[in-house]
Amino acid sequence: MTIPAGWQIDIGLEIHAQLNTQSKIFSGASTLFGQSPNSQACAIDLGMPGVLPSVNAEVFKKAVQFGLSIGAMINQESRFDRKNYFYPDLPKGYQITQMDHPIVLGGEITIQTSNGTEKIIRVTRAHLEEDAGKSIHDFKPGYTGIDLNRAGTPLLEIVSEPDIKNAEEAVAYAKAIHQLLTYLEVCDGNMAEGSLRFDANISVRRQDAEALGTRSEIKNLNSFRFLEQAIHFETERQISVLEAGGTLIQDTRLFDPDRHETRSMRSKETATDYRYFPEPDLLPVMLTAEFIEEIQAQLPELPGKRAQRYQTAHELSASDAALLSQDRRLGDYFDEVLTFSGNAKSAANWVRGDLLSKLNEHELGITVCPISPKHLGEMIQLIDQGVISGKIAKAVFAALWSKQTESAGDYVQKNQLEQVSDASAIEPLIDALIAENPKQAADLRAGKDKLLGFFVGKVMQATKGKANPKQVNDLIRQKLSEP
Ligand code: MN
Repeated sequence: MTIPAGWQIDIGLEIHAQLNTQSKIFSGASTLFGQSPNSQACAIDLGMPGVLPSVNAEVFKKAVQFGLSIGAMINQESRFDRKNYFYPDLPKGYQITQMDHPIVLGGEITIQTSNGTEKIIRVTRAHLEEDAGKSIHDFKPGYTGIDLNRAGTPLLEIVSEPDIKNAEEAVAYAKAIHQLLTYLEVCDGNMAEGSLRFDANISVRRQDAEALGTRSEIKNLNSFRFLEQAIHFETERQISVLEAGGTLIQDTRLFDPDRHETRSMRSKETATDYRYFPEPDLLPVMLTAEFIEEIQAQLPELPGKRAQRYQTAHELSASDAALLSQDRRLGDYFDEVLTFSGNAKSAANWVRGDLLSKLNEHELGITVCPISPKHLGEMIQLIDQGVISGKIAKAVFAALWSKQTESAGDYVQKNQLEQVSDASAIEPLIDALIAENPKQAADLRAGKDKLLGFFVGKVMQATKGKANPKQVNDLIRQKLSEP
């Protein structure tokens, strides 16, 4: 999207991420998705009289993991507050959240902009809160159903500074958060199930204006595409109102993807409208320095660091390094192949090429890959030791994939696939080929190097791929240079 001349855009995102705990943030009810309506909400999730919430320690671990990963400060004392509002899917009449004492303060996310440079987006804060239930509008004509299974699901709300200047940056930032949360395995990242939802605060101002313009908040965008579209429509709307001499009202809006517009839901509430007050049923949560240090010590190597290591220690290309480090389990798999093969370049080629395309073809994740990293690593070793050719390796790979064998070495031995490196076995083949193709032989002698491939191909064919192509090359040249 091109921003109209004379205007600039400021965007801040609030991202609600469901933390993937077994049970809810303040109760023992299950968080499992897709169960029959209202089968997983207990009296605590509904705030029935006489019940008391208690905090799920897991959510603190996950929030701290996230905070440390973005270089944020962790508040050792975090407190819960009540945010009061009415909505049918919030039968309690309030949401338990963190207002003045969020668990995570500050931090930053680095994104890649479209012109290839890096940009830092500052994170203001991230706080813990409970999810609400869901209103189901399409279950019966004329009715709205209420499903409270989601009520009490733990959320980490990640709030950014208005550092985002266009839709592309917003999507890059949202994707970076999604990647980090799934890499840390604190959120399943399943957007179709609502595990990650975006609210976008958008305002526009004249190029030379210093103060931010009047903002609108677009609620509950549940895909990267909707986020991008909503920003386009909303900025166009705001700019056209201002260019026509109108004024904007700060409001909360809904994005309608079918009608390609945003619609005002209500004028924006301020914090006082929610009558926040300290949650009287929960004590402040004090995290010890040891608790935080232990989480720090157990943090996995993060994607950026990992990609850097692949480039500097293993001399992988930037694109190989980025691809192999974007998914934690894929990176772990690659690291093991590397250990067993001792050849980073080749390990990267096999994992990125043959392995990933097979996995994609069968819609499998790396964690259920039929070939273990050890066995793939051993196969790469056989290539490097000259035991098999790259061509034969393809067949060995297929055998490993289909579980015909566990061990590349066994398979090669049993099927006699060892590379033929015995010159005396290959030389007669070359002699015969030269005799059968005198014209090509003469041209090659005369300097038509392209014909070398022709002869090598014929030898490989005759040996069913078992000859060593490098050696065949050398032998052909040698033969042809003989008088
Ligand atoms: Mn929230």
